[in-house]
Amino acid sequence: MADKRAKRLEKFIRPLRVEPGSEVDLERDFDPRYRGDLRKRDSAELLQTGVSLLAEYQARLAAQNTHGVLLCLQAIDAGGKDGTIRHVMSGVNPQGVHVSSFKVPSAEELDHDYLWRYACRVPARGEIGIFNRSHYEEVLVVRVHPENLDRQRLPPESRGPGIWERRYREINDWERHLTDNGFAVVKIFLNLSQEEQRTRFMKRLDLPEKNWKFSAADIRERRRWDDYREAFSEMLSATSTAWAPWYVVPADRKWFARIGAAAILARTLMTIDPQYPTVDERARKELRAARRELEKQAPVGAAADPYAAGHPESRRRR
Ligand code: AMP
Ligand code: MG
Repeated sequence: MADKRAKRLEKFIRPLRVEPGSEVDLERDFDPRYRGDLRKRDSAELLQTGVSLLAEYQARLAAQNTHGVLLCLQAIDAGGKDGTIRHVMSGVNPQGVHVSSFKVPSAEELDHDYLWRYACRVPARGEIGIFNRSHYEEVLVVRVHPENLDRQRLPPESRGPGIWERRYREINDWERHLTDNGFAVVKIFLNLSQEEQRTRFMKRLDLPEKNWKFSAADIRERRRWDDYREAFSEMLSATSTAWAPWYVVPADRKWFARIGAAAILARTLMTIDPQYPTVDERARKELRAARRELEKQAPVGAAADPYAAGHPESRRRR
């Protein structure tokens, strides 16, 4: 059953994966309106299935406490990162999930190497960490707007024409370090079309409750559409690796993007396959001793073992 489910998921997400070593041209290779053979009318139920699956696996991940999962979400503005996080994580225990949103770096952050602020936010074992924007901004917005690089106060020998190739390598190495040490790195790029972005911006301008989401910078960034496309394409080509592949999730249909993201995350958790720890004979002995001690503490008139005596919360015993 679990195996069949894993196979089905794998078949669904395979077309979204960037094959390590391949040369990506976003415009040519990935259609923002792709939806495989899914239909909108089935989407609510499918997402619900995905959300429940994630809740189950997350509980096991936390209980096992050996692995962590880092989900990196990247997108062009209005790509749907916030909505994806809200929907996909709606069923999981908030204690086991941390969302970190990365904005323009602070003075303190700029005083460190460029990966520092991201390293400070990686999940602990047993946790799912979500990066809303991520270390990939360091080869995206920083590349499209080189004044960001000037602010990083790099010594001259750390700059120069090879800087982006070097950053790709450093990012790949860092992710390898994380995966080698039990932290899966899941990378999702929400792929929005230029026309759908225009539509979503218009909505933000039209609806008062969406106005706050719009900033003048959005229009400025939109003018650099082609530069971003190119930076995204190059980043996807250089940093989709066997240990941390990129997934390009079609984002023009929000319902599809959410199902896609849930499926990719679920597939990762299935691969880890965390288990509830079992208790060995010594620990079982300790449990029995604790039971005897608690039974002795029963006040006069109370049952030594309320569950055995039919307590309303009575549960089946191991
Ligand atoms: P938002 O996600 O809409 O709140 O916007 C966050 C802003 O922070 C975006 O305009 C990003 O381009 C910007 N940003 C995120 N990371 C970096 C970075 N490393 N360097 C410069 N700007 C960044
Ligand atoms: Mg924004």
